[in-house]
Amino acid sequence: VTVRGFCTRAAPLDFTKIKIARLPTVVILGRPNVGKSALFNRLIRRREALVYNTPDDHVTRDIREGVAKLGDLRFRVLDSAGLEAEASSGSILHRTASMTANVLARSNFALFLTDARAGVHPLDLEVGKWLRKHAPQIKPIVAMNKSESLFDADDSLATAANEMCRLGFGDPIAISAETGLGMHDLYVSLRPLLEDYMLRVLKDTDEGDHENSHDENSSNLDVDESKLPLQLAIVGRPNVGKSTLLNALLQEDRVLVGPEAGLTRDAIRTQFEFQGRTIYLVDTAGWLQRTKQEKGAASLSIMQSRKSLLRAHIIALVLDAEEILNARRSMKHAEVVIARRAVEEGRGLVVIVNKMDLLRGKHKSLSYEKIMEVVPQEIQTVIPQATGIPVVFISALEGRDRSTVLNQVIDTYEKWCSRLPTARLNRWLQKAITPSSLFVMSRHSWKGQAAHPKVKYFTQVKARPPTFVVFVRGKTQLSHTDIRFITKSLKEDFDLGGIPIRIMQRSVT
Ligand code: GDP
Ligand code: GDP
Repeated sequence: VTVRGFCTRAAPLDFTKIKIARLPTVVILGRPNVGKSALFNRLIRRREALVYNTPDDHVTRDIREGVAKLGDLRFRVLDSAGLEAEASSGSILHRTASMTANVLARSNFALFLTDARAGVHPLDLEVGKWLRKHAPQIKPIVAMNKSESLFDADDSLATAANEMCRLGFGDPIAISAETGLGMHDLYVSLRPLLEDYMLRVLKDTDEGDHENSHDENSSNLDVDESKLPLQLAIVGRPNVGKSTLLNALLQEDRVLVGPEAGLTRDAIRTQFEFQGRTIYLVDTAGWLQRTKQEKGAASLSIMQSRKSLLRAHIIALVLDAEEILNARRSMKHAEVVIARRAVEEGRGLVVIVNKMDLLRGKHKSLSYEKIMEVVPQEIQTVIPQATGIPVVFISALEGRDRSTVLNQVIDTYEKWCSRLPTARLNRWLQKAITPSSLFVMSRHSWKGQAAHPKVKYFTQVKARPPTFVVFVRGKTQLSHTDIRFITKSLKEDFDLGGIPIRIMQRSVT
């Protein structure tokens, strides 16, 4: 994907100016004793490493994370060595579930370390197989460590490199963590990958950060924004089933549970793939932790969702079907607040009614039907500013609704990213917005009731969320009712229900 504008960037990307939380994460993988920790230590220099542990089979293992400095490159690096304390006795593959969830979920890239002197070891093949299976999206860079003695004899280096190709991840690079030889080759291999990644991330978040600076040139981007990674936040009150849903989405038994000592929440982003698309789960560690502390103080954990809101593109608000049935209304106050806020902040909102299995019994089948009918209506009533918010009904516990949820999330995201061509919009404007449908006021008089609308033209200036400018001629001004009317018609005619559309007006003479 080329993003015009970035390609013409004169200077190379300056990694030192990027916030740590945004930097890509590189995990160092490999069988025991190949020198993972040695490489990790070299990359982070003497800087502090954060150590956190993952309770896994009741054994605590350490994962170290640090900020790597390699020339002018900066990235976050994970040392997976602590995960394999028992690898000599048992198979590495035995603990794949927790490793996948905890390490790969945090990683964007991988360095697959081997021992140049030992050649391809059976355990190397196992690591390769495991990586292919659990993180097919990560194409590792193979680095033959302990190469220092081979550097003197080109032949032996070439032979070793040839053999490493058997791993199936392309040409290896030769390094020595202990002496520092080969670090430049490591730099050369990583730089384009990390830079490409960073440009995508920066572009992605820049749009989110500057959403009030309606840059009219932004529609000139060549990139299909709907294919950029989607950031999803799952929010809701404690006990509605967020963790259960998260597990169903990740298709893992356990994710990110336990203490994350030392790691900032920003640093933790769970990532998974669905239909070839990368989805980031924002802030999951945050609320997992909070919920644990706040069971009982049921109302508050939702409020911390405000931060998630600002980081995410799409908000999935989880409700509890049984509670709805008992309380006879769809949303409690805290939930209404968060839903409204999501809309106000311009995020895509998807409402998920969970625990539908509890209503499935024969004697309850009526309530099952009823709830599917009533909830969308009620949501419409409490959030009138956003018509057509999608609602899905699921049972996270049964775990079969993964694609229902994700398809809805992606659908909403794509609409949220959509751009409507100006010509099409103006053809639409002429047909849909007739003179009699608007109530145009003169800016200087409240008598208003101008006979003809003074709308000149209409254009989309920005996506994510779709933002439009309507140009009004002279001193007339569209009323709130007019804007609401245009918004509603636009949503209906372009299938943008539930998307927080923004319309601004400007005067032209
Ligand atoms: P890990 O289990 O993969 O984390 O491996 P370690 O980092 O603990 O290293 C295992 C052993 O290999 C240690 O004795 C290191 O000193 C040694 N080692 C690490 N890197 C190199 C290297 O580049 N050259 C040589 N000769 N030994 C190394
Ligand atoms: P969280 O606090 O929002 O993360 O909620 P949890 O995922 O911890 O779930 C709270 C309780 O609801 C647990 O006992 C779950 O087993 C249960 N639960 C979650 N989803 C469902 C569901 O779809 N059906 C039923 N019957 N129970 C569920």
